[in-house]
Amino acid sequence: MELRSVSKRYGRDAGEVYALRDLTINFERGSFTAVMGPSGAGKSTFLHCAAGLDRPTEGSVWLGGTDLATLDEAQLTMLRRERVGFIFQAYNLLGSLTVAENITLPLMLAGRMAERDWLEEVARRVGLSDRLQHRPAQLSGGQQQRVAVARALITRPEVIFADEPTGALDSRTGRQVLALLREIVDRDGNTVVMVTHDPVAASFAQRVVFLRDGAFAEVMEAPTPDRVAARMTRLEEW
Ligand code: ADP
Repeated sequence: MELRSVSKRYGRDAGEVYALRDLTINFERGSFTAVMGPSGAGKSTFLHCAAGLDRPTEGSVWLGGTDLATLDEAQLTMLRRERVGFIFQAYNLLGSLTVAENITLPLMLAGRMAERDWLEEVARRVGLSDRLQHRPAQLSGGQQQRVAVARALITRPEVIFADEPTGALDSRTGRQVLALLREIVDRDGNTVVMVTHDPVAASFAQRVVFLRDGAFAEVMEAPTPDRVAARMTRLEEW
């Protein structure tokens, strides 16, 4: 997954705002990247453009060999369903469906069959093997977010986008979900891109990219919570 010289501009003339400025970055297979930055730095716009939910004004977004700009809306919807996984702060599970049905929903929407073996494997990876017939309301917040992780994995996506995935969880449960995200990267070779404002969450990634005013201010490898927090403080003062 790759962004090449991506810019996003809102408005025009005197009202023109650059939300993203000439971003180029590669998210290699099997990598875990956190995206941070002060409020208004462009994190949401970045996520929307990278995930094919919005289109850049300039530049291109590539997923595998596909330039997203060449796809029409229907093709983009299919790409998001079949080749991208999403994890949100608020889990977004359907209360009337079982855990198994929630996990396989992206396959159903894509008109694909859920293979029993693969569903069981995904449930095992997120530690929910004995919860498949439960309803979301019978699960803790951390378990519900693990259902969301399983739902993101079920289509074998090329990249998983996580938007503040631990924002609704207490810190201990949040760390368990983050450790799971790191595990599906290190052990299973998934690719995760996570937007967060939390230095502890970011420290579970392999690298952190800091956005400031729509541009990359720094890339930090092997982040620690202290180094990330110190960098954020400087960016917020800027
Ligand atoms: P973050 O997620 O880091 O808080 P955003 O991506 O939401 O930042 O916003 C980046 C910049 O783009 C901000 O200056 C914001 O005001 C502007 N912006 C975002 N969306 C729109 C929009 N729909 N119309 C106009 N300006 C926008």
